[in-house]
Amino acid sequence: MTEAASSLDETGHRLTRRGRELQVGVVPIPHGVDGGHALVFGQATHGSPVISDGCLVRIHSRCLYGDALRSDDCDCGPELDMAMDMIQNEGAGVLIYLEQEGRGAGLINKARGLQTSERFDIDTFTSYARLELSADSRSYELAAQCLRDLGLTSVRLLTNNPDKVEPLEQAGLTVTRVPLHTWPRSERARKYLQAKRRHRGHQIPRLLAVSPVEQVSRERRARIHLASVAIPVMALPSALLGYIGVATISAATGLVVLGLCMWPDRRGGYRPARRIRNAARRSVVDVEQPCYLYPDLGEVSDDIRAPGEPRPPTPRGIGRRRARAMAHAGADQFGT
Ligand SMILES: [Zn+2]
Repeated sequence: MTEAASSLDETGHRLTRRGRELQVGVVPIPHGVDGGHALVFGQATHGSPVISDGCLVRIHSRCLYGDALRSDDCDCGPELDMAMDMIQNEGAGVLIYLEQEGRGAGLINKARGLQTSERFDIDTFTSYARLELSADSRSYELAAQCLRDLGLTSVRLLTNNPDKVEPLEQAGLTVTRVPLHTWPRSERARKYLQAKRRHRGHQIPRLLAVSPVEQVSRERRARIHLASVAIPVMALPSALLGYIGVATISAATGLVVLGLCMWPDRRGGYRPARRIRNAARRSVVDVEQPCYLYPDLGEVSDDIRAPGEPRPPTPRGIGRRRARAMAHAGADQFGT
């Protein structure tokens, strides 16, 4: 636990924000382009807020339009709000507010840059270049020194700007970057996020920086891509399941037919099987039937029994017509 610089003792007071109170103390950052202040938030010890290593830190450059007028044209106001919400939720942290308006160019040059952007439909980085202004002339060395003076050796830095990380590390601080992603509140704000990504390498998710139209087309392409992958992947299991289903139905049908064929009748045989077998035999006899037909003589009697002789039993497994035909053929052979 590290206690902040002694000047916090003179400035520590309560601050109410979003219905909640927190303790804050202020120390100046007197040097640099326009100077600034460090606001130290934390639990009060003898009126002075206490912070510790690894606390949340936001280094914020002034934007009069975004911070004070709540303009929707940039993300400065939402970033400041989000950073303060996170610090307040943790109950401790540091907000370093630097008077580096217009990315260090000042409010007048910022206004000139915005006018040039409107006139030529270009982003402010390009308009600064046309006005021969530095794209970003801010510096963070004094902020880093202030954090060291507060007794910190490691911080969690709330930023998307990689330019803020290096000066702190060079000052001997261990820095863990915490992303600060806010949703753009207007098309101009979205274009500004896109420009910061493109020109300064800010670590802003593409999703926040692309336009809704681009976003829809990207989502559509993503869905098409997903479908092109998912359909072949799903087709094989579906085909396999279909094949298994058809095979199951075929097997079940076969078992039902087999069961019907094997179902015993009252005589201990298998009725459907017998019927099928008999039908097959009748068809064989019907084919052979013309051998025993003589058009001139009419149908030859196949009854070779003597008068009063009882009908011989039909050999098992042979149809009656077939048995009579065999008997008739036997009589011809032996001249009877
Ligand atoms: Zn702004």
